[in-house]
Amino acid sequence: MREGRNGTEVTGRLGERAEGETAFVADNMLGRLAGWLRIFGCDTLYVKSGDDSDIARIAESEERIVLTRDKQLVKRRGISAYYVDDIRPVEQLKLVVHRFNLRFEEERMRCSRCNGTLRIKKREEVGPIVPDGVLERNESFYMCSSCGRVYWKGSHWNRIREVVEKALAD
Ligand SMILES: [Zn+2]
Repeated sequence: MREGRNGTEVTGRLGERAEGETAFVADNMLGRLAGWLRIFGCDTLYVKSGDDSDIARIAESEERIVLTRDKQLVKRRGISAYYVDDIRPVEQLKLVVHRFNLRFEEERMRCSRCNGTLRIKKREEVGPIVPDGVLERNESFYMCSSCGRVYWKGSHWNRIREVVEKALAD
C-alpha cells in the first residue's frame, strides 16, 4: 500500500516489470478487474481512492495504461486510457485481454491482493505458514515476493482456470 501526497490510496507494487510489458492503473470502480489482471500476470495498480489527476499522474510517470469506467478520464490529454465498457468483472477482463492481446502464463501470475510477483516454493519452504492438510495435499506453492501471502492450487484454482478460459475465448 502506498500513500500519495494528498491521501491517494493505491495498492500495487512498482518495479519488476519486463521490457515492453503492458502495465495498467485501474480506477476505484475496477478493483475486481485489477485482481484478475494480476492473476493474468499484468502489473496492475489499483487506485482505491484518489481523483482523476492522481490516476493521470501515475499513468504518466510510470507509463501505465489507465483502465477506467469514467468517460471524462478517457478524454484526458497526455495519457493512454481505455474505457472498460461493462460492469461485470469477468466480462471486463475479457475486454481488456482482447484489446491488449494478453496471454495467460502461469509462471507470470502476480499476487491478486498486492500485485507482487509470485515465486514457486517447495513444500518444505512453506511448512511453517500453510495448514497441515493443505501441505499434505499439495506439492508446489506460490509465495508473493512482496506481501508473503502463499497460494496453492486448492478448490479456487478451478474457478481461476474457468475465468481465464472465459476471458481468452472469442
Ligand atoms: Zn502479495
